[in-house]
Amino acid sequence: MESPILTIKNLHKRYGKVHAVNDVSLEIHKGNVYGILGPNGSGKSTTLGIVLNVVNKTSGEYNWFGGTMATHEALKKVGAIIERPNFYPYMTAQENLELVCKIKGINYSKVKEKLEIVGLIDRKDSKFKTFSLGMKQRLAIASALLNDPEILILDEPTNGLDPQGIHQIRDIIRLIASQGTTILLASHLLDEVEKVCSHVLVLRFGEILYNGKVDEMSNKSGYFELQSNDSQRLIEVLKNHTELESIKETEGKIIAYFKAQIDATELNKFLFEKGIILNHLVKRKLSLEEQFLELTNQ
Ligand code: ADP
Ligand code: MG
Repeated sequence: MESPILTIKNLHKRYGKVHAVNDVSLEIHKGNVYGILGPNGSGKSTTLGIVLNVVNKTSGEYNWFGGTMATHEALKKVGAIIERPNFYPYMTAQENLELVCKIKGINYSKVKEKLEIVGLIDRKDSKFKTFSLGMKQRLAIASALLNDPEILILDEPTNGLDPQGIHQIRDIIRLIASQGTTILLASHLLDEVEKVCSHVLVLRFGEILYNGKVDEMSNKSGYFELQSNDSQRLIEVLKNHTELESIKETEGKIIAYFKAQIDATELNKFLFEKGIILNHLVKRKLSLEEQFLELTNQ
């Protein structure tokens, strides 16, 4: 297998008493979109800062591209936006990006290509100072893409944007990902991660709560909504199921959580054999939001 783009092992960062990053490990593989999800102050920006060599780690390891090159060399293949976009206000979008090309030794033809990706080609001759925050953010993404990086890193890319601006940025992220660029983004927004990421690292107080695929975020398979004419008997029988985790009753329905994967037919058969006839059976998956709340509550 190809070596990971980024490997983080048992990373720690302390700011005095604050343990901002507490034993974080993560592997980033080509072609995926990774989210670091967590409330404000959970260590997302610190983690990104460390791997981008702008924050010193306290302990732990990380390496880029299998450790085959020095960090400063590796970072030439990384595009990152970790601060508010900053360009020259009186220069146009085109001029600002050409300046970046000049500094980094990139062919100017890349400017047009990247402005197209972020939907700013029609505004290439407008001065930066006339741009909305969303357009500034899109210009920053274009700038980070100029050298065709292996991976694009974004810290809270939609913060402060209006709904339309948020939508545009998310579309651009999906477009870039579909073209094969690996993405790592930090966000405190569940629905952002759910909408654009394939993998997620959930952090709270610097600690990992979950690390894996977005659609496998809960190890619980979900839950069943059940109803029968005799609720009490249904509850009693469910309590005898060896895989049952918990039960609650809401609006006449019994909600049953199981520890393991159980399919609807199997459960129905189990209940029928115990004399229970269901008049309602639905298997539901926890939404990412429910899963996230469940994780962060523990
Ligand atoms: P997030 O990006 O998830 O909001 P941060 O990585 O910015 O979280 O912060 C994690 C923790 O580290 C917070 O408690 C924050 O106050 C603290 N922290 C971040 N940067 C510094 C710093 N330069 N000095 C002291 N504490 C810091
Ligand atoms: Mg942050």
